[in-house]
Amino acid sequence: MKLNFCSLSSGSSGNCYYIGNEFHGILIDAGISASSVRKFLKDMDISMQTIMGVLITHNHTDHIKGLEVLIRKNSLPAFTTRKIWESILTPKTKIYSDCIREIPIQEKFHLAGFDIEAFPVSHDAPETIGFHVSAGDKKITIATDLGHISSIVAPYIAEANLLVIESNYDEEMLLNGGYPHSLKARIRSNNGHLGNHQTSVFLADTINENLSHICLAHLSKNNNTPEKALKTLQNTFLERGIKLNGKQQILILNRNKPTEIIRLVD
Ligand SMILES: [Zn+2]
Ligand SMILES: [Zn+2]
Repeated sequence: MKLNFCSLSSGSSGNCYYIGNEFHGILIDAGISASSVRKFLKDMDISMQTIMGVLITHNHTDHIKGLEVLIRKNSLPAFTTRKIWESILTPKTKIYSDCIREIPIQEKFHLAGFDIEAFPVSHDAPETIGFHVSAGDKKITIATDLGHISSIVAPYIAEANLLVIESNYDEEMLLNGGYPHSLKARIRSNNGHLGNHQTSVFLADTINENLSHICLAHLSKNNNTPEKALKTLQNTFLERGIKLNGKQQILILNRNKPTEIIRLVD
């Protein structure tokens, strides 16, 4: 079975990823408007009818801004843990109960022809999860919004062929930038976000032959640039003597523009 990936939008202002095969697809997070999702999918010749559900990582606005309208207009189910649902649903939320699906943590479930497993990450929300999606022996791991990479998260990353990993801030830009001290501390904490250096060192320690696509994701608008994220990773690899083989590539996910469809083939 095919395993295709596309980032529709990635960054602190809105996140949404598409994973699909020849028949169906799923969306991970709905942090952009429902109309943008529809337009981006249409541009790639992907019909909304093929989308089987939306998986949600946590309750921050940049991940759920478009959720209500997206699932209401398209009669889609949405999947996340009970605790995350409790943090999303308020008396004002217009999400009907028949769209709500609860998923377990670290236990496989099946959707749209994929095996999917949610794993816990540390972040400053009531609960936050990442996703590991597999089809045959091809695997995608999505780990954004996490302050550090725990021993629970690391094995999901080590297994990935395509990895979406946060590279949120450039350490110097954050330190010298205009955010209040408390916000800087929160972002840098174990429950905040991963910085360029942190992610690069982890990737240098973890990279293996199976990892064909490293997608640096969730870049901060104010405290990072795509050039800095890429340079930090390249320099870290260079310092460690790590050379990518011809099939391995690094992508920096854009905040406003979808990537091309990346096709993982068996
Ligand atoms: Zn976020
Ligand atoms: Zn978040």
